[in-house]
Amino acid sequence: MNLGLNERVAVVTGGSSGIGLAAAKLLLADGAKVAICGRNADRLAAAKTELDAVRPGGTLASVCDVLDAAAVASFAREVGAWSGGRVDILVNNAGQGRMSTFASTTDAQWREELELKFFSQILPIRAFRSLLEASDAPAIVGVNSLLSIQPEAHMVCTSAARAGVQSLLKSLSIELAPRIRVNSVLLGLVDSGQWQRRFEARADKAQSREQWFAALAREKEIPMQRLGVPDEPARAIVFLGSPAASYITGASLEISGGVSRHI
Ligand code: NDP
Repeated sequence: MNLGLNERVAVVTGGSSGIGLAAAKLLLADGAKVAICGRNADRLAAAKTELDAVRPGGTLASVCDVLDAAAVASFAREVGAWSGGRVDILVNNAGQGRMSTFASTTDAQWREELELKFFSQILPIRAFRSLLEASDAPAIVGVNSLLSIQPEAHMVCTSAARAGVQSLLKSLSIELAPRIRVNSVLLGLVDSGQWQRRFEARADKAQSREQWFAALAREKEIPMQRLGVPDEPARAIVFLGSPAASYITGASLEISGGVSRHI
């Protein structure tokens, strides 16, 4: 299937690691140009080197915190100048989850988590909207979590915020129709930067990486018996953002190895 990505322009927030980096690679391999952002300049530079190996000169990498409205607006201006005033696909991927129960979450942590989940969508969508309007097939893909519909008590504020983000994206799919499609992916557990950090912080340092991840998959009762790898959600993100998904909007695609319990 031809996804219609040749010479398209994509923006992937949090494109310097894990799922965002995998999506950027797939987009480049399919002929698109990609702008990525992240907060850490070293990680961003390393990602750009990897991406330039996929398609030389196809990537713009910029330091930008998606929670800083002025920085996001400046990133959008930079992308507009680089792309000739057009963006076809915006992937709002930047972020991370927070493990905490209601009892252990402070008000400041609640505010931080709600801000991260909502404004990592709101600010880029606002800043890139006019560039998206210049495309003949514009699309937004929000990277969200299965927690939005299947909350976990040990990730109470992430789950609540994720549910709100689903609502936001659904509303936007209506408000921005028929010009801009808006969809989301709902992830289960994907072996990427944040799980690597949790592995490194494991209590039992004798446990190998393989053992630790296998135990995690058993504990979470994942029917596919493993975590996903970044390429797996990345393929879904790229499809939903591509012109091949032209009649899909307001939808969410679950990539969880079957761990959801609803029908
Ligand atoms: P990684 O930690 O591997 O990548 C996260 C990326 O986001 C990095 O590039 C990071 O760069 C960037 N980032 C984080 N915060 C900001 C910010 N404020 N502004 C700009 N960039 C930022 O994690 P994943 O690939 O796993 O995560 C991708 C998305 O998927 C996240 O939103 C995550 O919450 C979500 N998700 C992941 C799941 C999983 O199991 N992996 C499950 C459910 C959802 P830097 O730190 O340099 O800013």
